[in-house]
Amino acid sequence: TTADKTRDTALFDLIGQEAQRQRHGLELIASENFTSAAVREAQGSVLTNKYAEGYPGKRWYGGCEVVDMVEQLAIDRVKELFGAQWANVQPHSGSSANLAVYNALVEPGATVLGMDLSHGGHLTHGNKANFSGMRYNVVGYKVNEATERIDMDEVRRLAHEHQPRMIIAGASAYSRSIDFAAFREIADEVGALLFADIAHIAGLIAAGVHPNALPHAHVVASTTHKTLRGPRGGIILTNDPEIAKQLDRTVFPGYQGGPLEHVIAAKAVAFGEALQPEFKVYAQQVIRNAQALAQAFQDRGYRIVSGGTDNHLFLLDLRPQGLNGTKATKLLDPNHITISKSTLPYDTEKTIHGGGIRLGTAAVTTRGLTEKDMPNIADLIDRALKGQDVKEEVHGWMGGFPLP
Ligand code: PLP
Repeated sequence: TTADKTRDTALFDLIGQEAQRQRHGLELIASENFTSAAVREAQGSVLTNKYAEGYPGKRWYGGCEVVDMVEQLAIDRVKELFGAQWANVQPHSGSSANLAVYNALVEPGATVLGMDLSHGGHLTHGNKANFSGMRYNVVGYKVNEATERIDMDEVRRLAHEHQPRMIIAGASAYSRSIDFAAFREIADEVGALLFADIAHIAGLIAAGVHPNALPHAHVVASTTHKTLRGPRGGIILTNDPEIAKQLDRTVFPGYQGGPLEHVIAAKAVAFGEALQPEFKVYAQQVIRNAQALAQAFQDRGYRIVSGGTDNHLFLLDLRPQGLNGTKATKLLDPNHITISKSTLPYDTEKTIHGGGIRLGTAAVTTRGLTEKDMPNIADLIDRALKGQDVKEEVHGWMGGFPLP
């Protein structure tokens, strides 16, 4: 049966409001996307009713014959997508997947080399307020000040100096290709494990438009909800059977109980979609759009960190405009242009404000925007940052691009 929404208007009105916000707004948060109706239907299905502690064929509960097939489908598809020999699709989020990787492979107190948060890394790559920074001795690598790109010589130098147990390659706010092969070479030189966190670029890797991490990394973790365009969740991949065994134990019973089989079903749908030829076309367009948008800002006199992008996102330095991330958010939010503020490498603004904003094209590309639309986005943002009210223009324009 379908829901009688009149029985809970307080909640269903809010969902309606959020649907309107998504429909009319200009979505440029680099970690967001719009899932297909099939993904949402799977996630909203009866599978949410089922307990299934364990793994397909090895459950602690009865009645798992159907969810076993659901989870196996997700595992088989994600293995095919990334060329992996093993996958765990149960982590509830990207951070949970990363927690499992640490728990399985690194002793508390051990040294880990990860990308500094203020240079593009993620909280789970060693920030002091996060479990990773509390429990491990994390050394951060930075981008080169002149090029604003990861400097592999510097990573090598730090690896030899600190002898980490694990090196993390991957980022949340880095617009350049990541050279996983070069990271592996360094990891081998110092006897470290290489952990690739591909959360942001997973969809690009799946589509073959960013080099794959898996042939190089000992372990790969990702979210499923960014460029990969699935439900919120995490995955872990490896080609090493011993590491696989440790990871399975660490996820369950190590720190999770029942898997979210409805979310796993939605992951299976998204992996199936990403295996289609259309997804490659989508991912290519995401990158073309990001490059066209960065160019459109440069044409208007803005500075892009590292001068451009190879992926779905880039950082706009707003300090030359006398702005920062917080001020920009206050100017863009009322115009329903959604972005995330960001610290910049070697930032001169306070961390809570950040010197700029991070912009990504995964979501607008799903709505059907192409290169020819990017100058209009730059123009709307430019005018909003100068104090103009462009909300009606944004609504009118985005109304022409239907949501999935
Ligand atoms: N890893 C990276 C590189 C990310 O960018 C993110 C999310 O922003 C995560 C991990 C964590 O994902 P989640 O927000 O699902 O915990």
